[in-house]
Amino acid sequence: VADACIFCAIVAGDAPAQLVDSDEHTVSFMDINPFTPGHALVIPRTHSADLTEISDEDLQRTTIAARRLTRKMAETLEPAGFNILNACGAAAWQTVFHFHLHVIPRYEDDPMRLPVIPRGGDPDEIARIAGRIRGDE
Ligand code: 5GP
Ligand code: ZN
Repeated sequence: VADACIFCAIVAGDAPAQLVDSDEHTVSFMDINPFTPGHALVIPRTHSADLTEISDEDLQRTTIAARRLTRKMAETLEPAGFNILNACGAAAWQTVFHFHLHVIPRYEDDPMRLPVIPRGGDPDEIARIAGRIRGDE
């Protein structure tokens, strides 16, 4: 349990939350600032700060719990689709440093929009960056 971690407090039952699913290793609850109706968060019970730190086992469990939640929502909320989102690092919008997957049910004409407009890339630039990731030369 990390000191002053709001999500650890939710796991411990020391902070209120609208729980929607849980198992031995994970807890799922409603986000207090929903992007769309039904927006929920899935977390491991064991604290880890982010994607770079979480164990393979807890990542697997959390991902499977997120899919279970999409199935529950599919039957109950009947959305048109889902986005599963993870923010890793403050620069990537992470604000709570206890790993979580956002499960965001999507509806036709809901207000959520991509914050960027993807544009046709320069193939040479893409190849150059791919080389850096692979560690070429
Ligand atoms: P992040 O930006 O780190 O990916 O997302 C953190 C999410 O946690 C935000 O969507 C925010 O609304 C949600 N959140 C922050 N504090 C609380 C809280 O105390 N309870 C609940 N249920 N959600 C929270
Ligand atoms: Zn925590």
